Amino acid sequence: MRMFNEKKRWFPLGLFLSMRIAFKNLFRRSITIRYPHVCAHIPERARWAVEINYEKDGAQRTHRCTACKICEKECPNFLIDIDVETAPDRSKTIKHWLYRRGGCMMCSLCVEACPFDAIKMGHNYELAHADPDLLEYDLLTDVPAYVRPRTPRPATIDSQKKQAGQTKPAKDAKAGAKGGENKRSSTTGKEASNA
Ligand code: SF4
Ligand code: SF4
Repeated sequence: MRMFNEKKRWFPLGLFLSMRIAFKNLFRRSITIRYPHVCAHIPERARWAVEINYEKDGAQRTHRCTACKICEKECPNFLIDIDVETAPDRSKTIKHWLYRRGGCMMCSLCVEACPFDAIKMGHNYELAHADPDLLEYDLLTDVPAYVRPRTPRPATIDSQKKQAGQTKPAKDAKAGAKGGENKRSSTTGKEASNA
């Protein structure tokens, strides 16, 4: 009975507080959206599924995957499987770049490990599928691997000397001097033994 009286006493205060919260939120901007009619704005650094980072070369799209398989080794869940075919002239063809999205925890370790910025974390968050088979797919199929154009190394002092042909004669001269010394010592040794 005493507890009931206590509750009764605090009822007007509780009512006032709840009404205050209700009025406060009545004039606030809504924080929910009418999905799927309205899509959420995704921050630039948000991470969803792994995608190929295509480069636009005019009307064409080119990938930058060299099939080095570093991402395959880095994935902690073993979700990447790259099947590469190497021709006798050492050119590579990516037969399959398999990505098992169902087990991906979007950690971005594969993206960070890629030395050629060939992959990125996508922004598409509508990834659900009723069929689990659709969660395994190839990102690249039957495409030649990217070959990075080689940049010439800056010339060092040694290489400049080599080009000018300065090092070789100097070495030859040293070798010649050493040979002469050796010959001289051997002849003097022989002379001494004869005496
Ligand atoms: S995506 Fe990057 S790390 Fe993976 S195979 Fe291609 S180039 Fe190598
Ligand atoms: S984001 Fe993480 S879990 Fe997903 S494929 Fe890359 S390394 Fe594997």
